Amino acid sequence: MSSIEEFYSLEKDKEYYRDLLEELGKVNEKLNAFNNINEGLSSGFPFSAKDNLCVKGVESTASSKMLSGYVPPYNATVVERMLRNKFGFIGKTNMDEFGFGSFGLNSQKIAKNPFDEHYVAGGSSSGAAIATAILKYHVAIAESTGGSIATPAAFCGVVGFTPTYGTISRHGLIDYSNSLDKIGIMARSAKDIRPVFDAVKGPDGYDSTAVNAKLNSNNTKHIFVVDQLIELVDKRIRAYFEALLDKLSSMGYSIEHAKIESTEAAVASYYIIAMAEASTNLARYTGFKYGLKNDNFGESYNEFFTEARKYFGDEAKRRIILGTFVRSASVKEKYYYKALKVREVLSHSMHEILEKGFILLPVMPVLTPKIEDAKKLSPLETYKMDALTIPPNLCGLPHISFPYAYDNGMPLGAQLITSKFNDYALIDFVEEWEEEFKYVFKYNIGAVQ
Ligand code: GLN
Repeated sequence: MSSIEEFYSLEKDKEYYRDLLEELGKVNEKLNAFNNINEGLSSGFPFSAKDNLCVKGVESTASSKMLSGYVPPYNATVVERMLRNKFGFIGKTNMDEFGFGSFGLNSQKIAKNPFDEHYVAGGSSSGAAIATAILKYHVAIAESTGGSIATPAAFCGVVGFTPTYGTISRHGLIDYSNSLDKIGIMARSAKDIRPVFDAVKGPDGYDSTAVNAKLNSNNTKHIFVVDQLIELVDKRIRAYFEALLDKLSSMGYSIEHAKIESTEAAVASYYIIAMAEASTNLARYTGFKYGLKNDNFGESYNEFFTEARKYFGDEAKRRIILGTFVRSASVKEKYYYKALKVREVLSHSMHEILEKGFILLPVMPVLTPKIEDAKKLSPLETYKMDALTIPPNLCGLPHISFPYAYDNGMPLGAQLITSKFNDYALIDFVEEWEEEFKYVFKYNIGAVQ
């Protein structure tokens, strides 16, 4: 039984929601999972929305100072569909500003890991993962551009589902990189992901990239492991991952090896494309139609915009500069066009493998870092942490991250990748895994039940 069915069989009353919100408020002060909580929630299975999804009448900032005070007059399609299916909106979750980050550090409030507050929660959908970990009855609507669902889900021990690009409408999403952004779902179990995906998928007439494809569940017993990528991973993770492969072979899966072309260029290709698109998306925050404004803004063009753009965080500024550079006329052949070519080679190569079976990888090359250690990483070192999550994301492929081991009490995640539109096979696989692993969610803060 999914926890959604269980929840509705329990007939929760108004008192339940009151206690839930009170307890959640306390826990949130410690962990910074939510940017705002819906104090008026009084019915429905609770769902949260990442702060880059528009919710009518609720401040939606993508964790950026630039958007503080922005209250959208409409719901994102995904939010609208959740509400129509009687889910109850519980709040907007914390994230790295505009989705720029892997550790939840590029926000106005640092997101903390619910298993141990000294550790990062992962990013950019950090709050979505924390909320999923701390709330027994809840699903999170999150978003991934280059790994923002898989990474925090892995660090917080929950299931993170990133569907095929275009299966969920992006209408009402505060864009990061339009050719890469995918709305997805986090839950404690794959059983809860299925009904939510059923409720929110499909085109809406607003997002021209949202497709009406037939979604399959073509299961396969072949799993391919990509050694070039495994080599990038910390030795301790490799040992856990080997044990996972042994377990899967005892479940009847054949473990095979495959090579993906151009993986060494994937991180560079991703960041060039993502930053190029981000720099154009951020151009709308000028203090005119979008973005903060104050009375000190000068009258002249340069003075005005210099002042307006100060509201961006450091990482956003870095991406505007790099993104504008890589698509400028004099170097676009060298960087931007080359990045697009790498993306094509990578897609083709992964497609060939995925025709024969799944690809399975660890999510991150390192064990969950402490917040103080993650802060010391340079931007480039941080970008390289995405080496394993970028290949499926860059190619718009569906993938699911699921917990499979604990190291010193901290969860570890693996990601399963399949071919486009075979999304349900991933959900089936993780459901099977949950049965085998006897996966019991280990985080329990008591009253937020
Ligand atoms: N870490 C990646 C980035 O900063 C991915 C973020 C995301 O998927 N939104 O771009």
